[in-house]
Amino acid sequence: MDDLIKKASQIYKNNFSNECYFERAVFLSWYCSKGDCKFCWMSTQKNRIRNPKLAIRRLESILAEVLICKLCNWKIEFLSGGYETYSLEELINIIKNINLIYKERLWLNIGVLNRQELLKLKPFIKGITGAVETINPRLHKELCPSKPLKEIEEMFKICDELKIKKSITIIIGLGETIEDFELLKRFIKKYKISRITYYALNPHKGTIFKKGPDTGYYIRWIANTRIAFPKIEIIAGSWHSRLDEIHLLLKAGANSITKFKSIKLFNTELAKNFENQVEKANRKFKSRLVDFPKFGLEDELRPFENELKTKIINKFNEYYKKKISKNEKTY
Ligand code: SF4
Repeated sequence: MDDLIKKASQIYKNNFSNECYFERAVFLSWYCSKGDCKFCWMSTQKNRIRNPKLAIRRLESILAEVLICKLCNWKIEFLSGGYETYSLEELINIIKNINLIYKERLWLNIGVLNRQELLKLKPFIKGITGAVETINPRLHKELCPSKPLKEIEEMFKICDELKIKKSITIIIGLGETIEDFELLKRFIKKYKISRITYYALNPHKGTIFKKGPDTGYYIRWIANTRIAFPKIEIIAGSWHSRLDEIHLLLKAGANSITKFKSIKLFNTELAKNFENQVEKANRKFKSRLVDFPKFGLEDELRPFENELKTKIINKFNEYYKKKISKNEKTY
């Protein structure tokens, strides 16, 4: 194992700087018309799934979160949401508003899109994420009965024609084995994937899963990927109960880390531990999880008309006062 990590680490150093960021997925809604993937939290929320209106997020709430990401130098892993939540026009409007704050085009992860939708979204996004989840075909069929891999593959073919970048998400711990890495390798090559997000399965109450993968097994996937694809961007998810593995995920060749409750746990012992883990991997942490920067909301929100601006500020203050600044007494 040590040799594998050393090799992956060296390949990482040859191809990337030693900077490391925290990446936060921004959720546009908590609704999904599929709602039946067997590991997914959505599958345990039957009422929300029946009524999308209960799960749609207000624009000011999304924008306040994006503003926090920008101020804390968190990268936005992608804009995420379940299938069929918004009309295309609503979605484009949300993304345009987000871009006014974040000033960088972002990846989109909202299910399978058709050619027309991709074409219309292309000017506003960085690329498309396909939530592959598991590359093992038998498992995929069993665990994601309503979103066949074939549909993601068809979307990726259209992305190629339209010159849209592609990324994927993979969950480790669903029952796959390391032998399945060969399938993943073929998939990444075939669809010229430029970014991969790995998650260690975080079993949700009410699903069939009870346990996440061991760190040793999880990092083999990351190291194998780094060795096979020296230049691919790798984002690795951890969880607040698995923070001690973060330095290993980075040594195995991950560029950045995601899946930490960065607002709720801002400036806590856990956030401090996160930063220590990055340091332990000899990486320079460029994001902030412990000290909130000075900010000028008026400047950041200049492009917005007054009514929306006021709503964003109110929401921002709610997040800031209830979650972020309340933890300041921790130190
Ligand atoms: S499609 Fe995505 S959001 Fe919907 S149930 Fe499956 S994993 Fe969850």
